[in-house]
Amino acid sequence: MLNRDETIEAMARSPLDLLVIGGGIVGSGVARDAAMRGLRVAVVEKSDFASGTSSRSSRLLHGGIRYLAQGRIGLVREASREKVVISKIAPHLAIPLPFTFPTREGTEWKLWKLRIGVKLYDLLCGGRNLGKSSWMKPAELEQKLPGLNQNGLTGAVRYFDGMTNDARLVLDTLRSSARSGGMLANFVSVEETKPFGEMWQATLYDHVGEKRINVTAKAIINAAGAWADKFPASRVRLRLTKGVHLVIDRSRLHVDDAIVMTEGSRILFVIPWGERIILGTTDTDYDGNLDNPTADASDIDYILDVTNQSFPSARITTDDVISTWAGLRPLIADPNGKPSDISRAHEIRMTEPGWIDVAGGKLTTYRLMAEQTVDRAITFAKLSARKCETDIAPLLDAPPKYSGITPPPVSRDAVQHFIEHEWALHLADVMIRRTSWRYYHRDHLQIAQQVARWMKEILGWDDETFRDELDTYSRQTSNARGEEASEFRTAGNETKVST
Ligand SMILES: Cc1cc2nc3c(=O)[nH]c(=O)nc-3n(C[C@H](O)[C@H](O)[C@H](O)COP(=O)(O)OP(=O)(O)OC[C@H]3O[C@@H](n4cnc5c(N)ncnc54)[C@H](O)[C@@H]3O)c2cc1C
Repeated sequence: MLNRDETIEAMARSPLDLLVIGGGIVGSGVARDAAMRGLRVAVVEKSDFASGTSSRSSRLLHGGIRYLAQGRIGLVREASREKVVISKIAPHLAIPLPFTFPTREGTEWKLWKLRIGVKLYDLLCGGRNLGKSSWMKPAELEQKLPGLNQNGLTGAVRYFDGMTNDARLVLDTLRSSARSGGMLANFVSVEETKPFGEMWQATLYDHVGEKRINVTAKAIINAAGAWADKFPASRVRLRLTKGVHLVIDRSRLHVDDAIVMTEGSRILFVIPWGERIILGTTDTDYDGNLDNPTADASDIDYILDVTNQSFPSARITTDDVISTWAGLRPLIADPNGKPSDISRAHEIRMTEPGWIDVAGGKLTTYRLMAEQTVDRAITFAKLSARKCETDIAPLLDAPPKYSGITPPPVSRDAVQHFIEHEWALHLADVMIRRTSWRYYHRDHLQIAQQVARWMKEILGWDDETFRDELDTYSRQTSNARGEEASEFRTAGNETKVST
């Protein structure tokens, strides 16, 4: 693999077939697809890979049981097939996850309708869902979930989706791209783009080397997610909505399956995640800062209220919250209607010759979005390319060492691996995107100190850089619970760190 400077120089050396803006799941998917077809492709990311929405999702590979209720059969079929594809190409990032969906009298979620729905759901995966759906009577449900609010229960359906790790899916997709010759650089922004004869020219700014370079490309793929409407050639019109998740300890809610909780027409999830549980999510219009959306106290209260209504004896409070994250859904604009009703379909549009916007969609459908986008670019630029094999080729060429659904143990070897093989440059790159240690461990600030010491040794940071990294990390990770930089202190229940 080329080092960072060599990669950036190589991007500028001769015209690219494709320049991809944005190293989220969509840009990474395009970079993988294009590289595997033999195209000269580069992807640049203004911050860390996956630092946008693609590390802030519910981490589900799903057809979307909710969209089925809305009659969006085509969308559900497409996503259902893709969830099965991802389970084949990246089994380490797609475990079958059963969902129990309790139904109650007086709500719009009727048992008989859901029983038909989940059968259809299995069929829409081409009959090969990750597990077979079933249903339960109230007595069975009560035995299985004794803590569940029993008021008006009419039964439950049980169906299967997949659990993934969003940021790891981005990183492993990028590793696959790099293996096929894709050129990748994080902390490089696209500052300006303009037509350049038959091609496009982009001015890039390298935040590490603090220099500008110009690259030319036959086509530009705008995969900038929530930022996609910021370029002059873009015709993307977005309606951003914020979704928040909370992490609590597994001991606080005794569930084996993921549980669906309803609040009117909305659904929220209790998602088992190793020794933790993820609760979420919200869906509210957003017009704040795009770079680091955070969970407000009202978001946290809302999720806790819905959870405590479903599991009254659990009495979960803000003290139980280990961590939170908030993400922005880059939905295609529809000024009318509730946020949760806006379509999750994707759009691929060439707005000017050689400028392709790819927007909307979801994590689950990223591979298909990438295939369709690269097809479009190949046809426009008359590129000679091999056929797409992203649906059958495994993402990794060896068993995963430090990639999976739950975080790896904290170790120096893992940190070295992320620096040498996965483009980690800053403390947050390791603590958040590469590992999720920040979300999984209550004592993440102590872990961050140890990780920073290892990064100092490996990357040769001076004392000032070391301090800056810790300061930046604690600023970025302080949240609505008021965690502060000053919390670099010793706490109980410390995570085991192997050196
Ligand atoms: C709360 C929530 C829950 C979700 N849950 C699920 C789920 O369970 N399953 C599912 O399938 N989907 C889910 N989604 C949807 C899914 O997460 C998103 O559709 C997907 O991550 C969007 O990826 P993206 O690549 O388009 O955007 P991003 O991941 O945001 O990537 C865009 C990137 O472009 C970069 N960028 C912007 N401007 C520039 C520039 N000038 N130069 C260089 N780089 C630039 C940004 O820094 C960013 O990293 C969820 C979304 C949210 C918000």
